[in-house]
Amino acid sequence: MVEVPGSYPLNSSIVLFCDFDGTLTPTDIGTALLRSYSIGAELEKALIQGEISVIEFYQRTCAAFVPEATPDRIAAFARQIGLRPYVREFFAFCRRIGIDVAIVSDGLDAYILPLIEEADLTQVPIACNLLRWECGRPQAVFPWAFENCQQNCPSPYPCAACKRAVLLSWSPPDATVLYVGDGLSDFCPAFYADIVFASGELALWCREHGLNFLPYSSLFDVRRTLEQLLRHRGLSPRYLPQQRRQRAWVEE
Ligand SMILES: [Zn+2]
Repeated sequence: MVEVPGSYPLNSSIVLFCDFDGTLTPTDIGTALLRSYSIGAELEKALIQGEISVIEFYQRTCAAFVPEATPDRIAAFARQIGLRPYVREFFAFCRRIGIDVAIVSDGLDAYILPLIEEADLTQVPIACNLLRWECGRPQAVFPWAFENCQQNCPSPYPCAACKRAVLLSWSPPDATVLYVGDGLSDFCPAFYADIVFASGELALWCREHGLNFLPYSSLFDVRRTLEQLLRHRGLSPRYLPQQRRQRAWVEE
């Protein structure tokens, strides 16, 4: 279910935040969708060169969707790509051992939700940007955009849906916070998680910034590592990330 600020859907002593595009899916569906049905390919250059923000990128690409990009067509596009193997099993594993999972994405609900529904995971809370039709015209809505992130985001492109804000808002005070991701929009929350599972650009960035992480290539790897951690030393909060969360809670 897509949640907006003000809800607190996680209450376990261990919580896991999971990126969507490239982590739960084999490729970045958002990027492919906006290239196929809008002016994504043209505007990506301006985004990479820092001329426009991610928010502006979504505002312009969503407004420029071709008329054929109906909710049904977008859902069908997403289903053609689908989720990676083992997503359902991984979420069931987390539930079985008492880990609350949330999906955090800087993408759009219009393509995330159909895949989550198809996998029968509608009970999983999701924080992302929204695509809405106002008087028949598509427009992007940003419930998780935060001023603070626009100025201080460690990613070259400040988030539209800030995953750090979601992590800080949804993590119970004494919980152990786990994070799984692979991309640029995962830089912002990574410093605030006790254990980071990273691949792709996130892994490179963690290495560059001296941030501990556990590499993975499939969700099955994440499960296996979690099982090992649980057997050996348990999953407890780590000093530095916990301090960072507490400082952010007090200051923001
Ligand atoms: Zn952010």
